[in-house]
Amino acid sequence: MRIDSRSKSPRLDRRTARPAARGRATPFGRLPRVLLVLLALPVALARPVVAVSIHPYASLVEQIVGSDATVVQVLPSGASPHTFDPTPSQVTAIAGSALVIMNGGVDEWMRKVAVSAAPKASLFVVTERLSFTPIQGTEAGVAANPHVWLDPSLMVRLVPQLVGALTAVDPADAATFRANGAALVTSLQTLDGELSAELAPLEGVAFVPFHDAWPYFARHFGLDLVVSIEPAPGREPSPRYVADAIAKIRASGARAVFDEAQLSPRPAEVVAQAAGVRLATLDPVGRSDQTYQQLMRADVAIVKAALTP
Ligand SMILES: [Zn+2]
Repeated sequence: MRIDSRSKSPRLDRRTARPAARGRATPFGRLPRVLLVLLALPVALARPVVAVSIHPYASLVEQIVGSDATVVQVLPSGASPHTFDPTPSQVTAIAGSALVIMNGGVDEWMRKVAVSAAPKASLFVVTERLSFTPIQGTEAGVAANPHVWLDPSLMVRLVPQLVGALTAVDPADAATFRANGAALVTSLQTLDGELSAELAPLEGVAFVPFHDAWPYFARHFGLDLVVSIEPAPGREPSPRYVADAIAKIRASGARAVFDEAQLSPRPAEVVAQAAGVRLATLDPVGRSDQTYQQLMRADVAIVKAALTP
């Protein structure tokens, strides 16, 4: 079950509204609607809340917990984690969470949100738990590039760790988490196989993404990441950087460059025009009406369409 942090009082609105709205026969018989809501309240509140910073992990966690926990995503659809500043209502939306899940690096605001709204919650930082071969990042103050979720094979490895963290805060639902986690691993392995086959014909092809989100994606799928257009996400690159990027793009023979759904397309438009290549739009974060798998399929389809001769 997913709740967006933008909805007001999400837990009480959604969870307590459900039993009454269904209107089915209950052990309590034909009780007035208000009383049914009150009776359902302790049961509803017993379901743990898991706060997640960004959409890809919210989708994975949702597929593991099913209806046994409430997933609250803090970053709204359409926002970039790099330019996001949580509002007070987005902070209070995760109050009482048992577990806080964040990537690290791109979503450091989540640590502050967790400390102020859910100080007792366990904190799970993906880039601190996951074993992976790091790639040097370009974003200021970050040694290893943090955008690991765009490599689905790393998410296959992450799922058992998510299952472990969820089980630690909700041992009663361990069997469900294990079974759903196993199904998710299979689904992600299938996804990875499909996407690898889709991109196999583009092995070694020049790839020019917008910001430094795509090196794990490029490494995993065998694309040649020539340069990122915006080295500091959300800030326009200097004229000198842009000139250098255009020279690299021309020399690489890249067929397209990419902008991103959450950030201003202007620097990419300038570069595409100057380099004489097409412009297409990728989404590194996704929307709440997409699963992680749908997001990855959509991005791979866009890359393939833009880079196939
Ligand atoms: Zn990023």
